[in-house]
Amino acid sequence: MLKIGLTGGIASGKSTVLSYFKDKHIPFIDADVVAREVVEPGTPGLEAIRDLFGESVIHHDGTLNREALGQIVFYDEEKRQQLNTCIHGFIRQRIDTLTAHYESQLVPVLIYDIPLLIEGKWYEHLDTVWLVYVSPKVQVQRLMERNGYSKQDALARIDSQMPIDDKKSYADVIIDNNGSIQDLKTQLEQLWYTVLKPLYIDI
Ligand code: ADP
Repeated sequence: MLKIGLTGGIASGKSTVLSYFKDKHIPFIDADVVAREVVEPGTPGLEAIRDLFGESVIHHDGTLNREALGQIVFYDEEKRQQLNTCIHGFIRQRIDTLTAHYESQLVPVLIYDIPLLIEGKWYEHLDTVWLVYVSPKVQVQRLMERNGYSKQDALARIDSQMPIDDKKSYADVIIDNNGSIQDLKTQLEQLWYTVLKPLYIDI
């Protein structure tokens, strides 16, 4: 099973690329969904957070009080680290379980949709990293258009992430999304026909 890590920067076009592969019925693991699942009520993840930070970070209905937790870790670097390490472990476990499930189904390709693929070193467990790349200039423009941000707001969001140019050196495949949607589609078709579709032939 080919494990593809798909990443990008904010507004680089990762969701657009993923929807192309979803149309091809390639299964994927969404790290954002996993990150929410591992702290649902009744999970060991939520219990670990309760042990670390106490009852004040749990709502009366048993769900995680993200705001209260945010308040604590915002001012305390050590606690933020503790939280990240704890959550990271549970996310990892869940991703491993999902991976084993797809492997047992003899799925030829699995995509990992992980925004912080490089920052979190998730690529170490994957076969190949595909980066959806745009120049910083295009990135600002697309983010402003998509979210209705001012240039200043868009730049602030982009600057809080690892620069997309720094991500290039980790990528095995760079999907250049500076052009039109059609240009993007041409590249995706190429990847589909040359890299992915052949993997389906034996099943
Ligand atoms: P991400 O998931 O990386 O944050 P999106 O896939 O949401 O990025 O793309 C960001 C925005 O840019 C969206 O509004 C999307 O429709 C638009 N977009 C993506 N690719 C192109 C393209 N090649 N040309 C024009 N607009 C694009």
